[in-house]
Amino acid sequence: MGAHLDEKWMRLAIQTATQDGSDPAKSPIGCVIILDGKVFAAERNQTEPLNDATAHAEMMAIRKAGAAHGDMELRGATLYSTLQPCGMCTMASVWSKVGRVVYGAEREDVHRMYFEAHHVDTLGFVRSAYRDDLEIEGGCLRSECARLYYGPNDEVPADDQGNL
Ligand SMILES: [Zn+2]
Repeated sequence: MGAHLDEKWMRLAIQTATQDGSDPAKSPIGCVIILDGKVFAAERNQTEPLNDATAHAEMMAIRKAGAAHGDMELRGATLYSTLQPCGMCTMASVWSKVGRVVYGAEREDVHRMYFEAHHVDTLGFVRSAYRDDLEIEGGCLRSECARLYYGPNDEVPADDQGNL
């Protein structure tokens, strides 16, 4: 799949991330899942509205895409996320059997509040799950995606920090 198509779908992920506003405190993370050139899911992070710590954009999209596909296995699909998937979402990607994960901003581009307190080697998860066939590529529209979030050195009020 070409870079041009990846950028097209990442723009949809950015649009999805910001559909309910772009306050970086609300973790505007968007995820789309594409299979055979069709949008199977376009979801944003909904942990606060749903009071559900697992309602990350990628988790929501994997649930929706499985339902739309009529099969929990999303083989051949590409998952696009505006931010590097966390440990939970990386493992969910492994279980869902998507073929590719493409993300925008990298962990080091954003404030640490968006990730686990300790570094989790998510690429290690993929190797340990014997999913050498799962491609993970970062940096698609990297700066546009990074602009959605607090930067690594921004002063973020403790109340707004999701991981404390
Ligand atoms: Zn996640």
